[in-house]
Amino acid sequence: MKHVVILGAGFSGLHLFYKIRHLINKTITVTVIDSRSHSLLKPSLPEVAFDGAPIDHSLVPLRHSLESKGATFLEAEVTHIDPAECVVTLSQGDPVSYDYLAVTMGAVKDYDAIPGFREYGYSVCDDVQAQRLWERIKTFNGGAVVTGSSKSVWGSRVDAPPLIAPCEGPIGEIMFMLDHYLIHEKGLKRKQDFSIDVFTPGSIFFEDVGDTPRNAVGAVMQKRDIALHPEKVLTEIGKDHIAFADGTTRACDLAIIIPPYRAPQVLRDSEIGDEKGFIPTDEQMRHLDYPNIFSAGDVNALAQPKLGHIAIIQAGIAAATLLNDLGESVEIPPYEPEVFCIMNMGGHDATMIVSDHLYGGPTDKAFHSPISRMMKWSFDSYLYYNKGHMPPDMALEMTDKILKIL
Ligand SMILES: Cc1cc2nc3c(=O)[nH]c(=O)nc-3n(C[C@H](O)[C@H](O)[C@H](O)COP(=O)(O)OP(=O)(O)OC[C@H]3O[C@@H](n4cnc5c(N)ncnc54)[C@H](O)[C@@H]3O)c2cc1C
Repeated sequence: MKHVVILGAGFSGLHLFYKIRHLINKTITVTVIDSRSHSLLKPSLPEVAFDGAPIDHSLVPLRHSLESKGATFLEAEVTHIDPAECVVTLSQGDPVSYDYLAVTMGAVKDYDAIPGFREYGYSVCDDVQAQRLWERIKTFNGGAVVTGSSKSVWGSRVDAPPLIAPCEGPIGEIMFMLDHYLIHEKGLKRKQDFSIDVFTPGSIFFEDVGDTPRNAVGAVMQKRDIALHPEKVLTEIGKDHIAFADGTTRACDLAIIIPPYRAPQVLRDSEIGDEKGFIPTDEQMRHLDYPNIFSAGDVNALAQPKLGHIAIIQAGIAAATLLNDLGESVEIPPYEPEVFCIMNMGGHDATMIVSDHLYGGPTDKAFHSPISRMMKWSFDSYLYYNKGHMPPDMALEMTDKILKIL
């Protein structure tokens, strides 16, 4: 029996697990390690923050989900990885040896990199922040809202597009869902009672897609009087303002930001990360230096933007590569990253985006319709009720095809 250890049970770790679990107790044993007891389904967090949706619907209990399918689950923080000895050290319990290691630990949202965030700033990026934001939104009775992404910095070992912001989709959801809530639930009026301004550290907003989705989103922003401020690198959040690296400030009663992304500290301290701690792999998701280590998702240096859809594509490839190493003959899909996301815009409104423009492909589409909202709801519900198990490949491929036709 070979021992496969999966570090991190988010989108990519769970998808990889579901792809290899048929070999459990035949040729492999699997241990999944996560510091959390529940996997967090981040795409539904904006609904927690702006609709007051219960947080339980964004949480998948890990022990039962994994152990009922034959894995061992260890709830502990990974504190050290020794790739030479093939051993992982944990915050509690014995060290764990592996034959194969999958590093699927996601990216850390570094709130503390932004002075003033803890006192005055808000975010939607995790369960604590999303619920804290909902408490603030409920008592917000108007004023200046400013939202945007911080600048993130990546390593240089692999050839991936060096996006200045990891993924600006949530900013789209923040501005549109908040606008909807303030008008339709609170009865406030745009311009008169509140304003929403958006900043981006890049020269263009949504730099990971082409003109079609960008213009579609831009048109809705214009219609809703949401102004865009490019090339603004966030440096500080104050009581009544937000400050940028170019020396400018903006009056602000409510700052909602995406903080810088960084690799987990254990990877920054390890030998397996690049100079920023992200895991360098080839396009079969195998580590460039350690052939028995695989990686997928936000922590993989190739993953740009940091998106669940790309995490799933990579996890599928990592699983296929690993299955071949384990003696199964399965086709390893080519790595063809694309942006695929559904932006909730409040009420029944949503825009579905599919684009491989960033990677030189021809697809660059946006589909703005209540059907998109329904698809997001179905997708999020499927994930929740199936314990983080993605819809079958066939369903995903069909969605992709329908989208391309639309
Ligand atoms: C607000 C928001 C909305 C989003 N909406 C969408 C969307 O609509 N569509 C989309 O495709 N993507 C979306 N994304 C992006 C998507 O959520 C991520 O790309 C995806 O979660 C990445 O999956 P992952 O498995 O790489 O990492 P994660 O899902 O972050 O999982 C990593 C896991 O590793 C564990 N871990 C980390 N460090 C350690 C350690 N030291 N020891 C033990 N365990 C550890 C964590 O606890 C976690 O469970 C959104 C992101 C945010 C923040």
